Amino acid sequence: MRLHCLGTTGYHPSPSRQTACYYLPDLELVLDAGTGLHRLTEHLIREPKERLDILLSHAHLDHVVGLTFLLDVMAVTSLKQVRIFGQPDKLAAVKEHLFHPLLFPVPLSLELHPLAGDEGRVKLPHCSFDYFPLEHPGGSIGMRIEAVCKRFAYVTDTTPKSDSPFLEQLKDLDLLLHECYFSDKYQELSLRTGHSWLGAVTSIVEQVHPKRTLLIHVNPLAEVLAEDSGYTADHEALRMSFAEDGMVVDF
Ligand SMILES: [Zn+2]
Ligand SMILES: [Zn+2]
Repeated sequence: MRLHCLGTTGYHPSPSRQTACYYLPDLELVLDAGTGLHRLTEHLIREPKERLDILLSHAHLDHVVGLTFLLDVMAVTSLKQVRIFGQPDKLAAVKEHLFHPLLFPVPLSLELHPLAGDEGRVKLPHCSFDYFPLEHPGGSIGMRIEAVCKRFAYVTDTTPKSDSPFLEQLKDLDLLLHECYFSDKYQELSLRTGHSWLGAVTSIVEQVHPKRTLLIHVNPLAEVLAEDSGYTADHEALRMSFAEDGMVVDF
C-alpha cells in the first residue's frame, strides 16, 4: 500500500512543505485537501484515475483550500468524479464560503457526502473507514481506514490525552498518521490551540503500539526558525518519524 505525502505541514506552507494532503493511489483515496493537493496533477498524469474520494478531517483552510485546485487537476488529467466526505457543517461551510463566487468564480462538479452523526462507518470502493470525533476548535474527526490486510489511521488537529475514547480506534495499526505540530517546549500553546506536541504523541504511541508512526501537520515555523524538534533515538526505536513532502510510504 502506497501513501504519498503531498503536504505535511499545517496552517501555511513553509519553504519545503505544503499544507495537509495525503494520497493513496491503490485506494483512490485522498486525506484532506490542503495546498499540497495541486501535486495530484503530476501523480494522475503518471498513473491515471477516473475517480477519487477525498476525506476531510475538518474545514480549516489548511485542510480544504486545495479543493479549489481541482479545477486544474481535472482539466489536464483523466479525473472525472470526485466525492468529498466530511461532517455536514464543514461541507456546508466549504460550499457556502470557499466556493462563494467572490472567492472562487468557477463552479466545480464535486459530490458532497455528509457523514451522519459524530461517529460511524462508511464503505468505499477499495476500503472502509470509521470516523470519530476529535477535540479541536470547531471540531475535527479522526479516521481509521481498513483495506485488504492493512489498517491505518489519520488523526490530525487535536490534542491527544491518555484517556481519549478514540484510542480504541488506534489499536492494531500498520500505520498511524498523527499530527505533531509542536515540540515539548510549546505544550501550553498546544493545549490552547487544540494541537499536539511530541511528548503527547509519544505517550499515545507507547499506549497503542502501531507498527509505524508518521508525524504530520508539522509547524511551518519550526523550519524557518530552525527549531529543535526534540526527536531522539528513543522516538526512532518506537518507529516514529517525521513526514516530509514527497515522501512515499510503502506499508
Ligand atoms: Zn490544520
Ligand atoms: Zn484545524
